[in-house]
Amino acid sequence: MNIEFDLIARYFSRPAPCGFLGVGDDCALFPVAAGRHLATSTDLLVEGRHFFSDVDPAALGHKALAVNLSDLAAMGAQPVACLLSLSLPAVDHDWLTAFSQSFYALADQAGCPLIGGDTTRSTAGIVISVTVMGQVRPDQALRRAAAQVGDDVWVTGDLGAANIALRLLQNELPHNPDLLAATRRALEWPLPPWQFGQALAGVAHAALDISDGLAQDIGHILKASGCGAELDYLALPVAPALQGLDSQLVQAAVLAGGDVYQLCFTAAAGERAHVLALAAASSLQVTRVGRIVAEPGLRVCAADGSVIPLDKAGFDHFC
Ligand code: ADP
Ligand code: MG
Repeated sequence: MNIEFDLIARYFSRPAPCGFLGVGDDCALFPVAAGRHLATSTDLLVEGRHFFSDVDPAALGHKALAVNLSDLAAMGAQPVACLLSLSLPAVDHDWLTAFSQSFYALADQAGCPLIGGDTTRSTAGIVISVTVMGQVRPDQALRRAAAQVGDDVWVTGDLGAANIALRLLQNELPHNPDLLAATRRALEWPLPPWQFGQALAGVAHAALDISDGLAQDIGHILKASGCGAELDYLALPVAPALQGLDSQLVQAAVLAGGDVYQLCFTAAAGERAHVLALAAASSLQVTRVGRIVAEPGLRVCAADGSVIPLDKAGFDHFC
């Protein structure tokens, strides 16, 4: 039997839900609810660039889908289905078992069944491409251009842990096994708030998922919306594992650290109680961290009211 077909049959052919046509035909077929638009996004993960060669394949299978679910959450879209394309230099059955099991585990959890993909031999490293499809009412999609002056700025979850784990693994920080143990899960097993993202549709104005760092990513909302923002540094939700670390290190990780896969969104001040109730219903931490203002640009204010310079040396590495 052709190796490619064998791999698909062994690892990627779980049945699709009732009403779907999944793996095995020329195209997959799936229904989209009346009045909804298809929201779709794709992410490429390249060995050596987006993940370490020796990363736990279970973590990788999870993360490959998680980073895509994060985009659906940031659009306010409900996950519907996903596609997985894999380019592999060799067949490693232990690797494929761990990778596919955790991919399916998250797909089940998020209601985002795997319905197709492609599998090829790679002449270089491992390349993984996941495409997600979701559905959203077009008038309720959380577009980056929709922030309004006077909106609150909110962040889900907490910030900084993934960046500290990455820097430890890259030996940019002194060896610290306890700190790595406390932060590694945030880097390798991100859990984007896909349910809360849907709940925000029609409530929040603009949203995005934090992948390259809060300070840089919020800039996309500000540019698209033609406005600025003031954030209160002390209000930012610092990951508990970062407590007691050097304050400059924490500041860089919180403001400029990527791989967060939580949401930054804006909503009218009149929606505060509503946002908090929706977060409580999803058992999710949300924090109000600032406001949208007319004057363009991002200002992050320290406790004494001074503005934290975002372009100083410590940030060059990240931004
Ligand atoms: P095609 O010749 O049309 O490219 P393939 O032989 O590549 O089809 O794939 C056969 C079936 O397996 C298709 O339904 C395809 O979507 C599915 N498939 C291939 N690779 C994967 C994968 N990694 N995960 C899920 N489905 C896959
Ligand atoms: Mg193919």
